[in-house]
Amino acid sequence: MTETLDVTACVIGAGPVGATLAATLAAAGLPAAVVDRAPLPPMELPEFDGRAYAIALTSRRLLDAAGIWARLPAEPQAIRHIRVRDGRPGARPSRLGLDFESAEVGTGEPFGWMVEARALRVALNAALPRLPNLRAFAPAEATVTRHLDQAEIRIAGGPTIRARLVVGAEGRDSPLRRQAGIPVTRWDYGQLGLVGAFAHEKPHRGTALEMFLPNGPFAQLPLAGPGGFGSAGFPHASAYVWSERTDVARRALALDDERFGRELARRLGGHLGGVRPIGGRWSYPLSALWAQRFTDTRLALVGDAAHGIHPIAGQGLNLGFRDVAALAEEVIAAVSANEDPGGAAVLARYQARARPDAMLMLGATHALEKLFGNDIGPVRLARRLGIAAVDRIPALKRAFAERAMGMRPGLTGLLGGQRLLG
Ligand SMILES: Cc1cc2nc3c(=O)[nH]c(=O)nc-3n(C[C@H](O)[C@H](O)[C@H](O)COP(=O)(O)OP(=O)(O)OC[C@H]3O[C@@H](n4cnc5c(N)ncnc54)[C@H](O)[C@@H]3O)c2cc1C
Repeated sequence: MTETLDVTACVIGAGPVGATLAATLAAAGLPAAVVDRAPLPPMELPEFDGRAYAIALTSRRLLDAAGIWARLPAEPQAIRHIRVRDGRPGARPSRLGLDFESAEVGTGEPFGWMVEARALRVALNAALPRLPNLRAFAPAEATVTRHLDQAEIRIAGGPTIRARLVVGAEGRDSPLRRQAGIPVTRWDYGQLGLVGAFAHEKPHRGTALEMFLPNGPFAQLPLAGPGGFGSAGFPHASAYVWSERTDVARRALALDDERFGRELARRLGGHLGGVRPIGGRWSYPLSALWAQRFTDTRLALVGDAAHGIHPIAGQGLNLGFRDVAALAEEVIAAVSANEDPGGAAVLARYQARARPDAMLMLGATHALEKLFGNDIGPVRLARRLGIAAVDRIPALKRAFAERAMGMRPGLTGLLGGQRLLG
């Protein structure tokens, strides 16, 4: 006879968003399950591969509450300064810029931390098996049937899970979203996102740079180091997220290391001295994605299954973590109030919290991409003046900086630093 497992929520997809949601619910004492079709240990690549996330302050608080942050294998690099510039490859950046200092915002905590993708995976994989209320199935194929009163998840060769709520966290091509017939809108930016890391001569001092270039933005994000990176001549390291027109990006990807390094340097300005690529080179077609609904009967979508945004502001994963906080808080509150945690009322409250937030971020990143990916002279001048004007209005500047940290007035709950009572 096959085993039957009863849980409050079963999360399909153990990527960073799904795994964090499962850990958050289990850490709060709720029985939960998480299923991924891929095996989890190989996601912890042993070698440095250059991929890293910018994790905002509020996302760190969520990871803290779920016991994930404490399991990071190394201290991540804090982002303390952000410089925004408008420029052209090979030319000096505009002198009219926008500079943010974390010491001048809120409690003076960093804007965020650069966490290597493999380090986050190590922490997630260490946290999941230690939670007594959580069962993880990976690699495993799940067949999901949703009824009015519960969802049934059949694991091939394993148990049948009965859940009050099933969560689609399978990324952009979410099969659960498709199964529920939820329409999606997509925009193709005609760009590739090139992602990787480089070693450099001069220290970054915790500074991140967002350089707006005609074909798309180029971000340099400081990595922890030295140690392990580069050589005596290049003792420091940063990650890059380089959005580039697809044809130019393909040509750049085909360059040897020396010429690729020169292209990175042409987009950086000279503040880091000489640069040398390290780790791998990764590329992703850039598109935005918007699910018309985040919920259906007994189903909630989170993370990239619900929305995908341009990496211009490094907020994709942070937005997914905000879904996690909203859904986890609603489910936990429902259970303590003896309410159905997968019922229509809870799902409506989740959608009412998560959708406006995601829509705002999608709209803002879309507008930024359009405004800054435009090389018409008067538009370029206007945006340079605009950047400089924001730099001179402290209240507006603080509002921008707090948004990047994920803060907003009256923020409470998991993103506000509330602990979970397991
Ligand atoms: C170029 C680029 C740079 C970025 N930089 C940043 C950044 O600096 N900061 C930031 O916050 N965000 C960044 N992002 C966005 C970020 O990478 C994504 O938002 C994030 O990975 C989404 O996580 P997720 O868990 O929702 O989905 P995914 O990471 O896609 O994980 C989905 C999981 O579901 C599993 N799965 C898929 N199908 C099934 C199935 N049928 N059954 C079971 N499991 C399944 C997969 O194996 C996977 O483990 C960037 C994105 C790009 C493209």
